[in-house]
Amino acid sequence: MALNPLLDSRDLRFALFEVLDADKLSQYEKFADFDRDMFEATLELAEQIAVEQVYPANKEADHSGGAKYDPETKTVQVPEGLRKAMDVYREAGFSGLSNAPEYGGAGMPETIYRAVMEYFCAAGVAFSSYDTLKVGACNLIIHHGTDELKKTYVEKMVSGKWGGTMCLTEPSAGSDVGALKTKAVKQPDGTYKITGQKIFITAGDNDLYENIIHPVLARIEGDPPGTPGISIFIVPKYLVNPDGSIGKRNDIITSGIEHKMGIKGSATCSLSLGENDQCVGYLLGQERQGMRIMFQMMNEARLDVAQQSLGTASSAYMHAVTYAKNRLQGADPGKKGDFTSVPITRHPDVKRMLIWMKAQVEAMRLLTLLAAQSADLAQVEQGDKAKEAQGLLDFLIPLCKAGNSDLAWLVTSEAMQVYGGYGYCSEYPVEQLARDCKILAIYEGTNGIQSLTLAMRLLLMNPGMFNYHVFRGRIAEVCEKAKGVVDDASVAAVQDAVNKMDATVQKLVGLKDQGKMLDILAVATPLLHAVRMTAHAWMHLWSMSVAVPKLKAIAGDIDGEKAAAAAKDNAEAAYYYGKILSGKFYLTNEIKHLDGYLAYIDAGGATVNDVFEDIFTGALLQ
Ligand SMILES: Cc1cc2nc3c(=O)[nH]c(=O)nc-3n(C[C@H](O)[C@H](O)[C@H](O)COP(=O)(O)OP(=O)(O)OC[C@H]3O[C@@H](n4cnc5c(N)ncnc54)[C@H](O)[C@@H]3O)c2cc1C
Repeated sequence: MALNPLLDSRDLRFALFEVLDADKLSQYEKFADFDRDMFEATLELAEQIAVEQVYPANKEADHSGGAKYDPETKTVQVPEGLRKAMDVYREAGFSGLSNAPEYGGAGMPETIYRAVMEYFCAAGVAFSSYDTLKVGACNLIIHHGTDELKKTYVEKMVSGKWGGTMCLTEPSAGSDVGALKTKAVKQPDGTYKITGQKIFITAGDNDLYENIIHPVLARIEGDPPGTPGISIFIVPKYLVNPDGSIGKRNDIITSGIEHKMGIKGSATCSLSLGENDQCVGYLLGQERQGMRIMFQMMNEARLDVAQQSLGTASSAYMHAVTYAKNRLQGADPGKKGDFTSVPITRHPDVKRMLIWMKAQVEAMRLLTLLAAQSADLAQVEQGDKAKEAQGLLDFLIPLCKAGNSDLAWLVTSEAMQVYGGYGYCSEYPVEQLARDCKILAIYEGTNGIQSLTLAMRLLLMNPGMFNYHVFRGRIAEVCEKAKGVVDDASVAAVQDAVNKMDATVQKLVGLKDQGKMLDILAVATPLLHAVRMTAHAWMHLWSMSVAVPKLKAIAGDIDGEKAAAAAKDNAEAAYYYGKILSGKFYLTNEIKHLDGYLAYIDAGGATVNDVFEDIFTGALLQ
């Protein structure tokens, strides 16, 4: 399989089919129509469209300034290349890949859908967000809509003719969604009149779709303040006639778009609802159930962001490897007296950067796909197995969203370092990747908020710490299986990480029991990264336990000269050897940072909580 510039397709197949056995999903009735060949054909088509259509269009969209707002018509135009790429994507059937066939979708497992989306996210975060938001909005209607709403919207959205968004944020309601001011008033015909302002709405207006369907959070007049009083409404850009055709324009106006650091092809819109008191909304689910319903979409969108992060990091790593192999600079440090310039890949410091990126990307990939597979298993399994799959998925969502996006920023930065000065210049791709990925740590619930979710909802306030026990149990299974297959030191490194994590969690439980909540909140982010590192250590051990026997079968040995010699002229041996080296690097070197996070948490939050606004005297002087 040829390397593409965006992601290592061999590694994607390894994660999917050699570690997770994703092809076995077709043993379940829901996926019985699929087999490995169909999954492969879908992945290959995704790779081709992502590399040939989306990637160049996404680059061009960035260079040309991105989506444009016309103040006369109050509409947004997406760069032409992205529009053409979306046509190809739609025609190839990617729009409804994971939707049920009864709605016109292909009904593919979530695991394969997410693997496919890794290609499109790596090719362009801006491009991918149009479709992923549409998928999320459509799923909300499928799960919570009346038959009438489903009949009106779902098929058109599944086919990709109509788009979708998520409308939460307002000027005074960012992380604190409960502070929103958008208002809904019930009408005699059962619809609602909506008035308010939404800001930062991705894909809020664009010319990729004939209609745009907005799930909007608002408060019905008289309902209580905060999140308990929020309801959710479907607000279409164009009203829909009884025969399904597009009717008159709804009173939802695009008042502008943001000019941003990155993802310039993505239209980030301000929307004004009900300026003429004519904005029609249709209630989704029951009144005051808005947050509970929107959480479904938020959880899907958090996995989308995890994938956008993984895709960006993967692309940065792939570009850095290709560049480093070709950049000649300096003599071989292992050959005294020979001043011939060699590829920079020979320098230990560059090797360190490359193996660090490789190890991060591979762990993120496997963990994100495991989350997707858990979503499938939560649906197709029964009883305890389904409950455990859901428990693991819930635990992995904040880990993947915040862990991947924080790492994507670091990986793109390291890739820029590998390029030297060229990396800082817009002629080369990594500076765009760095700009594009910064938002991933901010939108869809900032990473600070993800850390609080993990620390409080999924760990310390969680009855019986169910999610953590499922997570721990899965790690223990892999450690057990790896014994005697993988070297003892690697197994011990993961067991040691888990034991230390347990001790830290117990200390935090102690703080909770003493009511020292502020001390816990002050270390929530280092805690998330400690758990993320433990999860990545687990991913590496799991991968090694698969790769070691395979390399042995080809090379007869897994380290030393035989393995290296096999890796030189056998692509499969090279892949497995590389996989083992990523794991060894992570479990020998990178894992040492876990001690730093745990020591930081252990040191407590007092020095943080002693801080109060008045000490920031620089700000007072302004
Ligand atoms: C390009 C882009 C696209 C976006 N797309 C969408 C979209 O499609 N739909 C949508 O509804 N919104 C969207 N957003 C909005 C985005 O979700 C918000 O920006 C984000 O939720 C943070 O809100 P805020 O910007 O108001 O920051 P604030 O909430 O003001 O947060 C500022 C800082 O304070 C921290 N903070 C705030 N509250 C707490 C707390 N309780 N505990 C700990 N820390 C806290 C945050 O973590 C952050 O570091 C988008 C934003 C951008 C820039």
